[in-house]
Amino acid sequence: MATRYKKNKRKNVSVYIWSILIILLTAGAAGAGAWLGVYAAQQSASQPEVTEETGGIAVTEETEQPEEEEKQPVPEEGTEEAPETEDPLIEEPAEEEPVTEELPVDRTIYPEEIEPPAEPTIIQGVLLANKQYPLPEDYAPGENAEARAAFEQMAAAAEQEGIELVAFSTYRSFARQKELYEGYAARDGAAAADRYSARPGHSEHQTGLAFDIGEEGQEENWASSSFGETAGGEWLADNAHKFGFILRYPEGKEKITGYMYESWHFRYVGEEIATAIHEQGLTLEEYLDI
Ligand SMILES: [Zn+2]
Repeated sequence: MATRYKKNKRKNVSVYIWSILIILLTAGAAGAGAWLGVYAAQQSASQPEVTEETGGIAVTEETEQPEEEEKQPVPEEGTEEAPETEDPLIEEPAEEEPVTEELPVDRTIYPEEIEPPAEPTIIQGVLLANKQYPLPEDYAPGENAEARAAFEQMAAAAEQEGIELVAFSTYRSFARQKELYEGYAARDGAAAADRYSARPGHSEHQTGLAFDIGEEGQEENWASSSFGETAGGEWLADNAHKFGFILRYPEGKEKITGYMYESWHFRYVGEEIATAIHEQGLTLEEYLDI
């Protein structure tokens, strides 16, 4: 019985010792694990790139954080990408802005490089000829019959009010305009000539739709700003649109039309457009938004 007791006692002691060892090992392992975790966390905090190579529980926990951090910018990138796709949409109205900003642009200056076009420019049914839109050299339609008929009607209406209108210059060919411009440039210099005379191809008179108008017997006011202050000039400014003509180069619009005020230069565009331009106080360039 005593031996059995001893055996039992030994067994109890060994169980006791094993239990302590297991507890110690467990605690030690836990402690070591905890220490490793703290160490790894410190390492990953100070040297994030190194932690990826060390491995271990603490490292995998730490590597999840950078992943989460990487995930966070994703929606930011998404929101950044969204404006990127919207950017062209924002830029589109920005492209429209230069159109309104173009108005202050000085159209009295010829574009540096401008090729003579093969065909005349027609916008909204309106034939264009200015410093930006030249006509082909071989465009030679002669005086426009419809415009001439409209002028005769207008002259008849003016005559009823005691005003005798005369169209002293209408159609001019490219060659004739070349002669005129070169003569003016030789006399006054090209810069001065560019203000009151068009270079060949850029004259509205080549369209056959431009009429320089004065009063019979008042030649001193022909092709002069003083015509605008005469009865004939004032009558035209008020009534020309009813017959399809517009005062083509109004006062103060030189940088829009490209030419100084010409109280005598009228352009036939048809009654509808002429009336719209007159009532809105626009130039042809503004009306066509060019
Ligand atoms: Zn003219």
